[in-house]
Amino acid sequence: SVKDHGRSHYRYYREDTTTIFPNEALMEAHLRRAIEFNELSIHLQPQMDLTNNSINSFEALLRWNNRKFGFVSPAQFIPIAEASGLIIEIGDWIIDEVCRYQKEWQMNGYRPVRIAINISPKQFRKENFARKIKAALKKYNVPPELLEVEITESSMTNVHETFSILTELKQLGVYVSVDDFGTGYSSLSYLKRYPIDIIKIDQSFIADITKDDKNEAIIKAIISMSHNLGLEVVAEGIEELSQVDFLKRHQCQKGQGYLYNKPLPVETIVNKYFVS
Ligand code: C2E
Ligand code: MG
Ligand code: MG
Ligand code: MG
Repeated sequence: SVKDHGRSHYRYYREDTTTIFPNEALMEAHLRRAIEFNELSIHLQPQMDLTNNSINSFEALLRWNNRKFGFVSPAQFIPIAEASGLIIEIGDWIIDEVCRYQKEWQMNGYRPVRIAINISPKQFRKENFARKIKAALKKYNVPPELLEVEITESSMTNVHETFSILTELKQLGVYVSVDDFGTGYSSLSYLKRYPIDIIKIDQSFIADITKDDKNEAIIKAIISMSHNLGLEVVAEGIEELSQVDFLKRHQCQKGQGYLYNKPLPVETIVNKYFVS
């Protein structure tokens, strides 16, 4: 359901029961100490290979359980983290944490899986982002192909800057995906200009697949364009089998959504997918 709290409109969010802060300044003050107080955690959402129903990759999604106000939705706190610059420290923590899991899983002999992390524009565009990724991979001895960096079109504001960061990431060997594809205002020319591997079709298109012919046409076009450009396609927000049928019929290889799994705590994922 769409939550409407007086003058503030928050994005669609129904995964957990979430609370809200009385005001943004207070939220920022609490967020500032969230890492130190161990209030942040990472949930992982499995990505389903629609061609054979196997799971070989996950998306990392940040969760914040504040000691005073309880669960806060990323739709509420990510924009505050971004505006205040706190997203850099939080993002660094996520990169480290995800690489640490990879190391631990490798040592436990679990099968290799890729983990995608969401990178905010501020972090992506901060000097030395690629070197940071490189250092984290090295610290935990993680093969680069097990890390995926999700960016949005809003990260790609400057052509030269974007090209150089993406080229560095490509040289490292990590995967790069464009999240929420179709919702931005960028020119499609970036798809041929930049070394991108994956396109994630925004969940708003998936939600309306069966209700709207225009959405069908758009999704079909995104999938075939991606294939022609040699890109992998992931559908976000799959909630119904009819959506899967449509996506499979049109050769979309991967998808994630509540139909398969909600984002789950890391321990749950480990028990469910790795410990036999
Ligand atoms: P996103 O990266 O596009 O992530 C997908 C969102 O859709 C997640 O919401 C996920 O829980 C939700 N979702 C997954 N399957 C379904 C489904 O079947 N139906 C519906 N209705 N929703 C589904 P979440 O975790 O609340 O995150 C919201 C957004 O906050 C993310 O969108 C991303 O932009 C941002 N975010 C989350 N974690 C991080 C992070 O670690 N770093 C950064 N920079 N941003 C993050
Ligand atoms: Mg994402
Ligand atoms: Mg998305
Ligand atoms: Mg998003």
